Amino acid sequence: MKEIFFTPSDVIEYLFCPRFTYFMEVLKIPQQEQTREKVLIGRSLHKKKQKENTTYLRKRLSIKEKIVNAYLISPRYHIKGIVDELLFTKNNQAIIIDYKFAEYKEYLYDTYRTQLAMYGLCVRDIYQREIKRGFIVFTRSSNKMVEVSLSEEDYHHVLHIIHNMLKIIEFEYFPPVKKNQNKCIDCTYQKICV
Ligand code: SF4
Repeated sequence: MKEIFFTPSDVIEYLFCPRFTYFMEVLKIPQQEQTREKVLIGRSLHKKKQKENTTYLRKRLSIKEKIVNAYLISPRYHIKGIVDELLFTKNNQAIIIDYKFAEYKEYLYDTYRTQLAMYGLCVRDIYQREIKRGFIVFTRSSNKMVEVSLSEEDYHHVLHIIHNMLKIIEFEYFPPVKKNQNKCIDCTYQKICV
C-alpha cells in the first residue's frame, strides 16, 4: 500500500468519523462542494495573513534555515502535506510552524497536535532531524503563538490512526456508526450512511 498518502485533513475527517475514510477512499464519494468552498475561502485568508508573519521567530530561536510552504511526503508513514514553515535550528533540531485562521480559546484541539505530529513524522523521515515541538499561530488572536511539545506518544498515536485508516481501505472495512450520533445531524454523508 505504498501509494496511499493521507493529509492532515484526511486524518481530521477520520477522527470526526471513520466512515469518512470509507466513503471517500473506498467508495470515492466526495464531500459536498459547499464544504470545500468554505475551506478554500479560509485557506485564501490564511495565506494572506501568513505573508505578513514569516520572520518573527528568528529573533527568539536560534534558526539557521527556514523553508516556507514546505512540501512533505513520506511513503514510509503514508503522509503528505504542506507545512507553513519548517525551521532548522543551529543544534540540528527542526521546528514546525502552522498558522490557523482562528482565535485562541485557551486550549488546543487534539487535531492541532495530531496535525503537527503528522508533519513531525515526515520531517523525521525526510530530514532525519529530531523534532520535539511546533508552534500554532492564531491569526485571529493577534498572531498569538502557542508552543506544542511533541512526544513519542503523540507520534505513536498518529501511526495508530494511519494504520486504522489503511485497514479501512485495504479490507474495504465499513466502520460502525459513531456512538456520539450528534455528529450525524450535520454530516455531509447522512443521506447515504445506513
Ligand atoms: S452520518 Fe454519522 S456515522 Fe455516517 S458518516 Fe456521518 S457522522 Fe459518520
